[in-house]
Formats: sequence, structure tokens, C-alpha cells
Amino acid sequence: MERLFKVDDELMGVDGALLRIEQLRKEIEHHSYLYYALDAPVISDAAFDSLMRELELFEERYPHLITSASPTQRVGGYIGEAFAPVQHLERMYSLDNAMNEEELSSWFDRVESALEADQQSLTIEYVCELKIDGASIAMTYKGGALAQAATRGDGFTGEDITANVRTIKDVPLRLLEDPLHSGSIEVRGEAYMPRQAFNCLNEELELEAEHTGRQAKTFANPRNAAAGSLRQKDPQISANRKLATFIYAAPEASTSALGLSSQWELLEWLKASGFHTNPSLMLFKERAGVHHFCTEAIKLRGQLDYEIDGVVIKVNSFNQQQRLGYTSKAPRWAIAFKFPPEEKTTLLNAIVVQVGRTGVLTPVAEFDPVEVAGSVISRATLHNIDEVLRKDVRVGDTVVIRKAGDVIPEVVGPVLSLRPSGSRPWQMPTACPSCGSSVYRDDEGSGAAVRCLSAECPAQLLERLNHWVSRGAMDIDGLGPKLIKKLVEQGYLHDVADFYLLTQEQVALTPTGEEKYARSISKEKRAETGDYEKIPVYVGNTVAAKVIAQIQASTQRPFARVLFGLGIRNVGRQVAEILVQNHGSLEALAAAKQEDLEVIDGVGPVIAHTLKEFLNTKHNQDLLKRLSERGLCLKEESGLGAGGSATGLGVAGEAGAGNTLPLLGMSFVLTGTLVELTRNEAEEALRALGAKTPGSVSSKTSYIVAGPGAGSKLHKAEKLNIPVLSEEDLLNILSKEELPDSSRA
Ligand code: AMP
Repeated sequence: MERLFKVDDELMGVDGALLRIEQLRKEIEHHSYLYYALDAPVISDAAFDSLMRELELFEERYPHLITSASPTQRVGGYIGEAFAPVQHLERMYSLDNAMNEEELSSWFDRVESALEADQQSLTIEYVCELKIDGASIAMTYKGGALAQAATRGDGFTGEDITANVRTIKDVPLRLLEDPLHSGSIEVRGEAYMPRQAFNCLNEELELEAEHTGRQAKTFANPRNAAAGSLRQKDPQISANRKLATFIYAAPEASTSALGLSSQWELLEWLKASGFHTNPSLMLFKERAGVHHFCTEAIKLRGQLDYEIDGVVIKVNSFNQQQRLGYTSKAPRWAIAFKFPPEEKTTLLNAIVVQVGRTGVLTPVAEFDPVEVAGSVISRATLHNIDEVLRKDVRVGDTVVIRKAGDVIPEVVGPVLSLRPSGSRPWQMPTACPSCGSSVYRDDEGSGAAVRCLSAECPAQLLERLNHWVSRGAMDIDGLGPKLIKKLVEQGYLHDVADFYLLTQEQVALTPTGEEKYARSISKEKRAETGDYEKIPVYVGNTVAAKVIAQIQASTQRPFARVLFGLGIRNVGRQVAEILVQNHGSLEALAAAKQEDLEVIDGVGPVIAHTLKEFLNTKHNQDLLKRLSERGLCLKEESGLGAGGSATGLGVAGEAGAGNTLPLLGMSFVLTGTLVELTRNEAEEALRALGAKTPGSVSSKTSYIVAGPGAGSKLHKAEKLNIPVLSEEDLLNILSKEELPDSSRA
């Protein structure tokens, strides 16, 4: 196709090209602003694309004229492995909340009396803004161009996410006007994911998961999706995530450099400079106006294409803001009026019963899909039979649904006036819905659990198999619930030890449950079967080879993971670790008496009992024997454990056989984000060298390893004068298996 524009430096010369490039960039920035920030484009998409293509062509021809602020550079290269820490020049505070109208009134009282006491003239104006439920960002412009963007982190230190923020279309790469010329300006706001983009993203992730046979890693809500997208290592992924921003703040150094004296002036400046500001902003002189704004915002909530969780009310005058100051975590001059949790009514179609891996029967409400607090839900757990009876929810009822903490779907209760006549209270089945065995009620634990005791129950088997392959246990990638179910149906899996007998051929020839048109196979087949006949899709060799390799790799997992993976009642990850630290092998655990186990700190009589019960059952002994024969690790490799202390940090030498371990007797607390290692990997590696890795800081902590975003643990450690290590120090220690001289205690 012939190009409409030509780049001919002979005719134009470099200076001419530079001029045109500048014109194009200005033009594109202007139209981006109209389109993304004001939602008011004046040219067609095609015309916009054409401008962009022309600019790209010039930049191809004159690469030395490309600047990082050019609109063509929104998607940059890889950030690299790490997000570098960014120290905020001024702290990014949180907000105090007012949970209802009374608390809002008390905040007004506090503001007024503080300013009155300060003998300020009592004209107080308030700016009302919607509280956007996204992820906080700070952006620094130098010489008018976007130079850096960071997350809020712990308010003091955030992470450098410049390359990702550059991909957000409504973020100006250059200010429309730069009043300070070469100076530096910081602005702050919220990056969010519009609901529509969020729904599309989750659908895509689900499709992708179906395709790969893995469990879908969808996002629970748009806020998580926005935060997750900002922290992608590949900016191209962020670019595809369709994030947007609302910018509403600037630190004092910037507002005073700009000569602004109020929040309202700041918002006007932000808008004029090219930032996307929220359209629902209001300035009030009276409290009544603010209360009214809050009531209206609640109604507006469901109509917006983005999530809001409240209204932020700010004292308008910067002078008054300064006088009011800050508490240790939030400004006194602002308050977040939080919306009450959103509730919806819908029809309860069924209460189904799920069987968990330890045989617990859980009633789950299934209702007509409703959108609550930003996502569509159709199921919510009812926890146990007592909860169902207490709420008296019945099939056929119209029920009220909400999200507890705005996240977990919950059935609040029935609307009694709409109850159909003849409805009956719900009852727990007396037989397991999966295997038909009788069930019994167990009031021993925290709730009224009804259990299926059958060792043969297929639903329990599926849950146990899923648990075995899960992240914290054997971490077998590629074996999702769907494939496991199919392998069970094929008769290959009867317990977790059977994973280690699977052959590549068996997995490859397992049907996925999907079908495809026969004609996509071969012409010959098509002639045989006709065009539209469908044939099953099999897992295939590529996936099977991966799965088998992953299963083999899992034989290397440490004993604590195996113990956790067995899914023994009450034995979570932490407990498994503690048990292994004390009794380093299956043999030692089997030999230990219940009394020996229950005195261990963090174990206690209930866990000791269920563990002994498990280990004394013939069926489980057989399973463990087979696991051992198939190469699983049933003792701690290092030999550490026998005789070691469970929680107390201990003294070097205490752990008998482990004396030679270099970090024995030390305890390391990890906080903040690690880049090279996951938290699990770091903790495991430290423990392999004999160290303890408790979750909290105490005077006995030897070292704290702090990454970006470290918060209260780091502050506490600093107060206690505990040496702080970086991730690099940690990697050094792990690779050399010793403490460097400078960090030796
Ligand atoms: P919270 O996270 O509940 O402590 O609330 C404080 C956060 O609300 C801030 O860090 C901002 O990220 C966010 N926020 C959303 N909208 C606004 C707004 N209009 N003004 C100030 N903060 C806001």
C-alpha cells in the first residue's frame, strides 16, 4: 500500500523532520488527552492511527530523535527482573475512615474545633471526591516529561513501575504545559481497571487455563487486577490490561512550587495539564452538601464503569490542611466516608453439598447470578448445618447476598415476606452425596462438622489428590483438577502414591473431555466420518511429558511438604514444619507417643491426636510405605530435627545431629518483597542451613531480611537494633552457606 506521507530527509533535512516530529507528538498528545482523559475525541480512530503511523515512520528514519516521552514509547522493553525501590520524597499516607454519617459528623467537629482553636477564620470549604478502588501510584515529571512512577508500597518506599505506567493510555507522557520548565513535579492518584476490562481479562484467563489444563488464576476484583497488572514484569502485559487512572493529589513540595493554594486549584491544574481527573468532584461550604454528596455517591456506585468504595472529603485550603496536620498514619484534613457493604437480593435455587478432602460436608448456596461489589456471583458457602439453620435459608427463598469485607460472597439471610408457601427447612443429607456412606456429626473442632468417614469416597479422593499437587504441597504444575478427575475416571489414581506410577502414555491417551471436529484431523478421516462428526481430544504427548517430568521433580520436595500434602486433618503447613523440626522423620513421628507430640509448642492435643490416628491406620501405613518405595522423602534430608526445639530459637548445638549446619540457632524474619526468590524458597533455603524462620520479630530474632515494601516488622526490628539484611546479603549467605564477616552477630 502506498503511504500517504513520505519521509524524505533530502527534501526535509533533520531539522525539518524534528519540527514535524514535534508537531505530530503535540497533536497526538492533544488527541490522546481528548480521548482518554476527557472522553471527548474530535477525530476518528483512523485519523488518530494515521498520525501515530506517521510519527512511527519518522522515528524509524531518525531513531536518535526518539525520546522516552514520545507517544510511540508507551510500551517499552522489559523492566528486568526487579522492581527497584523508590523512596517517596514525602510520605504517601493512608486515610482514616468514617463508617457512617455520625462518624463523618464527628470528623467535621474535630476539624472545626481544631481550626477554631487555631483562630483561623472559620470559612472551611470541603472538596468531595469519589474514593477510587484501585492501586495508589505516584508519578514524577522532570522537565515536563514523565520520569518515574512508583507504587505506594508502605508509604515510605514504593516500587519502580515506570515502564508499566507508561503503557496506561490516559497518563500524559508529557505535561500539556510545564510551568516549572526544568523542575520536578510529583502527582499522585489511583490506577484502576474498568469493570468491563476486568470481566474480559478474567474471561481470557479462564479460557487460557482451559486451554493449558491449569487452574485459572483469575483476579478476585478489579483492585487486585489493577495492582497485579502494575507489577507485571513485561510491560506489554500491562499494556494489554487496559488500565486507566484518576489523578487527584500532589505532595506539598509540588503544590507550593506550582503556587497552588487549595485542593480545588490543584484539581483544576491537573486537568489542564493533561491528567485524567474524575468528573464527579464537588466543592462545598456547608456540611449538608457533603452529606448529600455521600448519599448520591452510593446511588451512583452501581452505574459507574469502575469501582468506588467511598467518598474522600478533603479540607480545601492547603493552609488549613497544614494546620490540621497528620496522625501517625493519615492526614487529619481528610476522611474516607466508606459505603455500607453492597447487598443484593436473588433467588436461592439449591443448597448443594460439597465433600472436602477430610470428608467434611459443606453446604453451598447456589443462586441466580447477581452482581455484588463489582463481580457476578452465583455461589456462596453456608459453612455448616448450624449456619444454615441459624439463618434459616431454604431452597426457593429470595435471599440477601453481600460480600463480607467486600470480597467473600455471603448469604445474609432470607426475605421472609417473599418465602413461598410450603417451604421446608433444609436438612443435611444423612448419606455422603458422593459415595453414599453414612455421615456423622463431629462437634470436636471449631464448628458443627458433618463428615463422611469412608476411605473410599471419590469426592474426598479428588480433593486429596488436588491438595497433594497444590502449590504449598508437592507443587506439581500442569496437573489441574480437570485432568486429575479424568485420570481418576480412567482408573489410574486411587491415592496420591499412584501419581508416581503414571506413565507418559497413560496421560497422553487420557481424554480431556473436550471434543473437536473430525475434519480438522485428516482428509481420510473426514471421508470416513463425515464433515461434522466430533471426536474426543486427548491430552497428548507434549502435555503428558511435562506432567510426568513435574511429578518426578516432586519426589525431591522436603518431608514437611509431603507431610502437609497428605492432607491430615489439622496438619497445615506450619504444623507440618514444626513436626518435622522436632521429629525429623516419619519413623520418629510414628515412634513418638501422643504425649510427646502434644507438648510441642504449636501442636497441642487435638493435632497430636489426629496425627497419631492417621499414622496408626493400616490403610495410611500402606500408603506411606508405597510413597517411600516410589522415592518420596519421608525424613528431613539434613538430619536436622531429632531432638531439636520447636519454636524457641535455641542455641547452636542444641539440635544434635544438625550441629554442623552453619545457621543453626539463628532466626531470620523475612519482610517486604523478595525479587530473586519467593518467600517460600528463601525460608526453605534458610531452614536447610539450620536457621529458624518465624513469622514475627522478637528480641531473639538474629536478622531481618527486608525487601521493598517492608513495613511494621522492619520498624520493630530497627527499634530492637536487629541487623537488617538486603536480599543480596541473603543470597550471599545462601550461596556461601555462611554469614559474611560484616553481618556476623
Ligand atoms: P485505604 O487504602 O483504605 O487506607 O484508603 C486510602 C487510599 O485511598 C489512598 O492511599 C488512595 O490510594 C485511595 N484513594 C482513592 N481515591 C482517593 C481520592 N479521591 N483521594 C485520596 N485517596 C484516594
